[in-house]
Amino acid sequence: MLTKSDFLKFIQCPKYLWLAKFRKDLAGEIDAGTQKMFDDGAEVEKYAYELFTDGVMAGGNNDFKTDISKTKELLAGGAKTIFQPTFSNFNTNLYCRCDIIKLSEDNESWDIYEVKSSTQPKDIHFYDLAFQKICLEKEGLKVGKAYLILVNNQYVRNGDIEPEKLLKIEDVNNEVEEKSEEVKEEIVEALKILELKEEPSVTILKQCKNPYECSYISHCWEGIPEESIYDVASGLSEKQLAILLDMGIINLTDIPEGFVKNEKFIKHIELVKNGQREIQKAEIESELASLEYPLYFIDYETFGGAVPLFDGLRPYENIPFQYSLHVIEAPNAEAKHYEFLEKEYKDPTKDLYESLNNIVGEKGTFISWNMSFEKSCNTGIASRNPEYKEFFEGMNERMFDLMMIFKNGYVADKGFKASASLKKVLPVMVPHLSYKELNIQEGGTASVSWFTLTDEKVDKEEREHLYQDMLKYCELDTLAMVEIWKRLSDL
Ligand code: SF4
Repeated sequence: MLTKSDFLKFIQCPKYLWLAKFRKDLAGEIDAGTQKMFDDGAEVEKYAYELFTDGVMAGGNNDFKTDISKTKELLAGGAKTIFQPTFSNFNTNLYCRCDIIKLSEDNESWDIYEVKSSTQPKDIHFYDLAFQKICLEKEGLKVGKAYLILVNNQYVRNGDIEPEKLLKIEDVNNEVEEKSEEVKEEIVEALKILELKEEPSVTILKQCKNPYECSYISHCWEGIPEESIYDVASGLSEKQLAILLDMGIINLTDIPEGFVKNEKFIKHIELVKNGQREIQKAEIESELASLEYPLYFIDYETFGGAVPLFDGLRPYENIPFQYSLHVIEAPNAEAKHYEFLEKEYKDPTKDLYESLNNIVGEKGTFISWNMSFEKSCNTGIASRNPEYKEFFEGMNERMFDLMMIFKNGYVADKGFKASASLKKVLPVMVPHLSYKELNIQEGGTASVSWFTLTDEKVDKEEREHLYQDMLKYCELDTLAMVEIWKRLSDL
């Protein structure tokens, strides 16, 4: 049986479908970001149902056979709108659960509504709806139009969530129609994959993280060399990658001269070939000369989901609930550490402001990594809270982005893998500092952890452990900046 979610895996990569069907044991764990996307989707779907006052639920019976018979019952009983209708056709081997179907105004056909937590339509959504349309037609239902229900990122929460403002409905019938023939052919191919006894072999191009991160990366990427053509894949088209693979080239250093055009990647290949670190001391010195004491090394952890949690927030707006701050008052002074983490489930802005305002003086430079993120958080706080506007806008005026030294290539090392992210730069610049020992190792997990931390239903001891883990993670982000800044200064 080919389900809708199987089919979408097949569209991403035929091997993904086969592995998900027959080798679940090889799948890696779902990362926090992907899990959050699923949770957001479920929450948005709940609000989407409120747009249809005459809707009746067919799914959610924990048993697909009951879902199918309930759907049949509702169709026969004259329901006008059905939530989670489920169809399975043994002749065609297709199985599909829609989000919502609604009888059109002339009572002649069924319109299909697919709920997504994204703010814009994506190609994969059209494949999704085209698959549903085929399933309904196989069931003998006449299909009217296809719609997407998406999140409206202009919505600002004020009191209870208003689903009709949070969500927007887009007619994507033409796009879905355009995919229909292709989807019919792809279904035939996908069913063939399910017949295979052996894992199919596919060429790894760019499909492993697009449109979703595949959970078989550790399985499929085993054996790919440390320095491979995939290190520069974002600077190459699928066609170029395929050409290299056809030529039998997998090692980064075997890429023919002139093949890669992107400056950043040309540099990376050069670094791998000559193995030397490159340092532009004059540029670094001139950048660091602009810093004014005290130095405030700052990092935020934030949440931001499809459904805004508090008044004044828009969907996906990032709200800081935690900061770590290392302060160096004067040259040669030791760094002092300060931190804040909101423990209650409430808008953390006021507490965060009061905590920061107690420490920060009117002079000095704020140093962050990828400052556009911290600055956008500050701008958001300032626009929602005029009383804190001066403070947060003032912070932004005094912000310095330490990452730019690496992004501009003033320090270049093959170990950065052509990236300027802190997670790539730190192990090269300060090998003894590592995220590997921490229970929380990346920002996505820290973000999701805030919901557990502030949930009073969760065991107190578990929350206390989590609190400590979250503090340690954020502290390392600013300590890492301090240590990198010291090494740059020593140069
Ligand atoms: S990791 Fe890549 S090649 Fe492997 S199944 Fe997933 S998408 Fe396909």
